[in-house]
Amino acid sequence: MPIDFNLAPEVEEVRQRVRKFMDAEVRPVEAKLQEERAERSAYVQAIIGLRQKARQEGLWNPHLPPEWAGMGLGPVGMAFVSAEAGRTTIGPFVINAQAPDEGNMHTLLHWATPEQKEKYLRPLAEGLCRSCFAMTEPEVAGSDPTLIQTTAVKDGDDWVLNGHKWFASGAHGSKFAIVIARTDPDADPPQARNTGFIVDTPSEGWEIVRDVETMAGAANHPEIRLTDVRVPAENMLGGRGEGHRLGQYRLGPARLAHCMRWIGNAEVALEMMVDRALKRYSHGSYLAEKQAIQWMMSESVMELYTGKLMVLHAAYKIENGLPFRQEVSMAKVHVANTLWRIIDRSIQVHGALGYSTDTPLESMMRTARAARLADGADEVHMQTIARNLIAAYKKDGNTRAATGELL
Ligand SMILES: Cc1cc2nc3c(=O)[nH]c(=O)nc-3n(C[C@H](O)[C@H](O)[C@H](O)COP(=O)(O)OP(=O)(O)OC[C@H]3O[C@@H](n4cnc5c(N)ncnc54)[C@H](O)[C@@H]3O)c2cc1C
Repeated sequence: MPIDFNLAPEVEEVRQRVRKFMDAEVRPVEAKLQEERAERSAYVQAIIGLRQKARQEGLWNPHLPPEWAGMGLGPVGMAFVSAEAGRTTIGPFVINAQAPDEGNMHTLLHWATPEQKEKYLRPLAEGLCRSCFAMTEPEVAGSDPTLIQTTAVKDGDDWVLNGHKWFASGAHGSKFAIVIARTDPDADPPQARNTGFIVDTPSEGWEIVRDVETMAGAANHPEIRLTDVRVPAENMLGGRGEGHRLGQYRLGPARLAHCMRWIGNAEVALEMMVDRALKRYSHGSYLAEKQAIQWMMSESVMELYTGKLMVLHAAYKIENGLPFRQEVSMAKVHVANTLWRIIDRSIQVHGALGYSTDTPLESMMRTARAARLADGADEVHMQTIARNLIAAYKKDGNTRAATGELL
């Protein structure tokens, strides 16, 4: 099979348009907001204004098909668009492809009934509301969803939900939540115990206890208490006992979408590193001329390049209906750690300035730390990767199937 690294003309065209739009419209606005240390409300106003322009330019919902006001891009096209948008913090919001809504839109598109799509996907796709996804609980390991304790019990035509969630990103201001709850405690296998529900928010019994303060500030990752929250039967999302599959389905492409944005983020940190190294003079030459600094640069370049290839290959596999779990897990761990290391090196090259709040690097670093936890901790993905490796070796006597099946 020939390998063709050329992009399809329509993807290249979209990539150029998104790049131009991000450079011309979004980056200057974000730079100004950062310089002014603007409040959240100023960011929201800026995003609203930029969204109008994005829609006029046809840069809206890149991940959705045209019947849902989308651009109809597959995962490979999305990799380019998201990397461009990920070069700014507000870019993904401007094109309505921000987490967790993007993942929720995918989930609704695939799992929701026609009625649920009209009621929940339509306004999300129109940018009229936001949503959240509530699976993780403080009391049990989020890494193992079979431990979920939030219950949903059938009562007449309704389901009644009780439980405790946290890190439901975006819950403040959400119009609805996709909640994973235990409906069948004795089901075997345990993966069949959970079911997804769409919960209108706010609704009676849905209580935002607090916005969990994180190392990146209070970034809308609330703790939620559900007390006798009544959900009509028609709000079950997917079939009964399919909550685990739904979560896995949602997180596969969503994890990769994160990687795509992180690549844009890492590019910015690397560009800052080079820019600083070209301008800072010490001990007879510019930093860019020092071998120690060049090593930091080249390590960053190689890691970023590897990450791009991994993301594109995983996207290709998803787009072509091939098994993708191994590639997505590998990409997720690699890109999350690459992002962290490149920002760290960039801070190092900036010296005290890098440690200060005068550049965005410190905030990028605090935000980047979450990448190694959210959507599956490194160790859990590594466990999956090793499990697939061992299985491949046992089956084939070699490791090719676990290493991308490329060579
Ligand atoms: C910024 C951010 C946003 C998030 N957004 C959402 C959201 O919108 N909705 C949502 O439901 N959740 C969200 N989460 C939660 C996230 O999905 C969980 O943090 C993640 O699944 C891990 O669960 P946990 O935090 O309970 O850690 P635990 O499961 O308690 O794991 C703690 C640590 O134990 C280790 N560990 C766990 N299992 C294994 C294993 N099998 N082998 C080896 N080591 C292991 C890992 O080092 C792991 O980091 C978010 C988290 C963050 C940080």
